[in-house]
Amino acid sequence: MIVTTLEEFFKMGPGPSSSHTMGPMRITRDFYRRVEALPDEVLARATGLRVEVLGSLSATGQGHGTGRAALAGLLGRNPADCEPEFLDGIAAHPERVYDVRIGPAAIPVSMKDIVWGEMLGNFPHPNTMRVRLLGGDATLLEMEYYSVGGGFIEWKGYQASEKGTPAYPYSTMKELQAHVAASGLSLPAVMLANELAVSGKSEAEVRAHLDQVKRVMLQLVDGGLQAQGVLPGPIGLQSKAKALYANAMESDRWMDRSTSVLASFAMAAAEENARGRVIVTAPTAGAAGVMPAVVKGYQDYRPMSESAFHESFLAAAAIGYLCKHNATLAGAEGGCQAEIGVASAMAAAFIVQASGGNVRQVANAAESALEHHLGLTCDPVEGYVQVPCIERCAFGAIKAHAAACITMDVEEKRHRVDLDTCIAAMAMTGRDMNAKYKETSTGGLAALVQC
Ligand code: SF4
Repeated sequence: MIVTTLEEFFKMGPGPSSSHTMGPMRITRDFYRRVEALPDEVLARATGLRVEVLGSLSATGQGHGTGRAALAGLLGRNPADCEPEFLDGIAAHPERVYDVRIGPAAIPVSMKDIVWGEMLGNFPHPNTMRVRLLGGDATLLEMEYYSVGGGFIEWKGYQASEKGTPAYPYSTMKELQAHVAASGLSLPAVMLANELAVSGKSEAEVRAHLDQVKRVMLQLVDGGLQAQGVLPGPIGLQSKAKALYANAMESDRWMDRSTSVLASFAMAAAEENARGRVIVTAPTAGAAGVMPAVVKGYQDYRPMSESAFHESFLAAAAIGYLCKHNATLAGAEGGCQAEIGVASAMAAAFIVQASGGNVRQVANAAESALEHHLGLTCDPVEGYVQVPCIERCAFGAIKAHAAACITMDVEEKRHRVDLDTCIAAMAMTGRDMNAKYKETSTGGLAALVQC
């Protein structure tokens, strides 16, 4: 049964990666809080903290800012309100030693305490971290964590926290569609009823969160359209969004203009993600350009009420939840189909909902967008979320638009593949995919492109 909430799903935090930046920061922040809860007599013996980074996190963590994010979490910082400048400061002064003061403890920590372990191995999850509180040679507290995608974290022995029971329980799109048919409600209304029941929040709180999601997404696009220059890292990648947008606005060919505008919005947000700005996981940071492009497109070109935006976000969330629950959102587990593919499916659902489509059309558009990302590998060059990730966000947004157009213009019953089957195919493809193509930067473009 799916009990994910909007606040868990649409999270705000620093880029460039939800599983490799935000997840590790949430992990070490969680450990920090556990240390805080220890008795004073244990804390008095504490002499150090150690973070071991394993698997895909070790393979691409340098380019994904995993180390600085993990250190920031150890210092008690939260992804949602940690300024990018703080993380930049850690990266700029890797030799600096910080004091973690908790109760009687003053524990020195630095980037040297983030240890890059084995990249390939038989770990419980491809994104595994072990965090220890040391007291001389003794270990006072140890936890094994997993960054499972989209900024979600779990740990050894993890039990999901108690939540309310959904008003309309479901695990598949088929069940969700049955609830819509039986209740006479729209898909967003069913999702909202579930959200209220599961989260215990008021409708006003839920809507306020969606307003914030929209605000951050728009800020991301607007920021990216203003910025220019070379993106951080060894690739020396020139940002393109600003120039692309300016050229699009001068074009008198409608097709070029609409495609280029949508692409420039997606790349603007993705370039901001590469700069480490605060993004919204939709569903991940690597895919952070796809949904914002579509949201910005509606904001600028097809104005609609705030409540219509909320409904469209709820439809998109339904698709993201199904993919998380029945497959994965982690590039390290499923390749890029799990990130850009899911983002594109969510964006297609957003467009169809915003265009007044019904639940079946939403499902079909999401299926179509996801289907045409099946098998997409994750091979970021130099381990940076730039090539192919930034342009891939543009293609994800464009495919979402194509999927929505095709679905809205063709009779629903002619659609052959259902969304649940497509999500199952994504999960199967991810399991079969060679580890070289699952965020280890050891295959494909990452192996062949020289910087
Ligand atoms: S290739 Fe796709 S999955 Fe891999 S880091 Fe880039 S956006 Fe994420």
